[in-house]
Amino acid sequence: MVVVMSERATEAQIDSVIQRLIELGMDVHRSSGVTRTVLGVVGAHKIDPDLIAILDGVHEVLRITEPYKLASRTFKADDTVINVGEVRIGGDEVIVMAGPCSAETEEQVFSTAAAVKRAGAKVLRGGAFKPRSSPYSFQGLGEDGLKLLRAGANAHDLKLITEVMDISQIEVIDKYADIYQVGARNMQNFTLLRELGRTRKPVMLKRGIAATVEEWLLSAEYILSGGNGEVMLCERGIRTFETATRNTLDVSAIPIVKELSHLPIFVDPSHGTGRRDKVAPMARAAAAAGADGLIIEVHNDPDHALSDGAQSMFPVQFDRLMAELRIITPAIGRSICTEPLARRGWAR
Ligand code: PEP
Ligand code: MN
Repeated sequence: MVVVMSERATEAQIDSVIQRLIELGMDVHRSSGVTRTVLGVVGAHKIDPDLIAILDGVHEVLRITEPYKLASRTFKADDTVINVGEVRIGGDEVIVMAGPCSAETEEQVFSTAAAVKRAGAKVLRGGAFKPRSSPYSFQGLGEDGLKLLRAGANAHDLKLITEVMDISQIEVIDKYADIYQVGARNMQNFTLLRELGRTRKPVMLKRGIAATVEEWLLSAEYILSGGNGEVMLCERGIRTFETATRNTLDVSAIPIVKELSHLPIFVDPSHGTGRRDKVAPMARAAAAAGADGLIIEVHNDPDHALSDGAQSMFPVQFDRLMAELRIITPAIGRSICTEPLARRGWAR
């Protein structure tokens, strides 16, 4: 860190700041300018910059390294690639995960799984334990939902991602899912993050609705520091003053995270916008901005969905979006699933 002393700092104040830093085990390099003294501080361990900022004569303290380590590009320069069976997350191919917000019925899960597979998705998404703002809303089918999702994924050769809300659910979800999803509301559920650090399955960590990129990466650090290196991030919109969309999708987080971290980054334009007619434009923007993948809500009958119907795409819309992404991704040197292209009418 760099400690900038105030213009009026006395020699005694400067000495006492230096002494304090040395006591804390740091090496201090003093540089005295015409009006200000600046202290370069290096050391093996981290100290709280706020403790230095309040010392007499200190003007400001600037951090020069990130507070997270394992998640940072400084620690690991190469992109992290996570293999889920033959699905390679974080490589050249943009991976698309799609499916309903929640598992509801066998017919719903199977027909949606068939549709997303046909369009080129590699992973089925769907919740069995749902974090709903109201306790009176549909809460998910629990283990019965997990069974439906696993069967639907297997029937169409898809991997499965589903949300874990609590450490008590890890055991049962582990029996069915390939990837754990930590939802926005749980991004700072540190006991859950620590426990997922002990598992050996990939984790998608969604950004909290009021979380900075730094806080998000610190949450990833909880999982990584527990020994689970398979973490992918997901930008899903943050809460701002804007009410035209459900959340404000922070597309700029993609290049920011790419610079700061080696972890793959996904984008969820469904929760990011809350409206199915806005999902495709934001999915296209996310792919163009360099996202490693997308997670999108698709439902066989979204107008009758038990959760998030307004933001769930009709299969035909999703199919069209995938076709558009096949045009966009090569422009930035990437690819997307080019498998069975069953074109139908794109009326909706
Ligand atoms: C979801 O994916 O259905 C979900 C609840 O997402 P988020 O945690 O981003 O709100
Ligand atoms: Mn949802």
